[in-house]
Amino acid sequence: MVERTLAIIKPDAVERRLAGRIIQRIEDSGFRIRAMRRVRLTRAEAEGFYAVHRERPFFASLTVFMSSGAAIVLVLEAADAIKKWRTLMGATDPAKADAGTLRKEFAQSIERNATHGSDAPETAAFEIGYFFAGIDLI
Ligand code: GDP
Repeated sequence: MVERTLAIIKPDAVERRLAGRIIQRIEDSGFRIRAMRRVRLTRAEAEGFYAVHRERPFFASLTVFMSSGAAIVLVLEAADAIKKWRTLMGATDPAKADAGTLRKEFAQSIERNATHGSDAPETAAFEIGYFFAGIDLI
């Protein structure tokens, strides 16, 4: 089933000028980029995006990091896009990520891990709507 997911190239990767290489990997893996935008999140916007994690011990650190610099948000489309993108990203912790994954190659730590991807259809719908309007996705 053709599906859409929200991807973010996080501030650590944008700062290190890795966005082009990550976008190339996205296209080489067969995704279509349906929408893409550079954003600089405020702390409140990062807190809203990660609201499901507000009780986690790393919430403050994560939202400071995500609002520390520019990020690139993308809507990716493919068959089984949510799982496919999470497989390409690799495990949250780069020390546990498989060889050949983006996080293995580009992440610096469990927090500064280069990319984000939605984890389920409901979160993908929320996260896509957080950054893009319906008219951006026609
Ligand atoms: P994801 O779905 O693989 O992005 O992982 P989670 O939903 O569990 O966590 C969201 C984001 O929070 C991760 O991508 C990391 O940037 C960050 N994060 C997750 N676990 C930790 C942790 O133990 N410590 C810190 N500092 N950040 C974390």
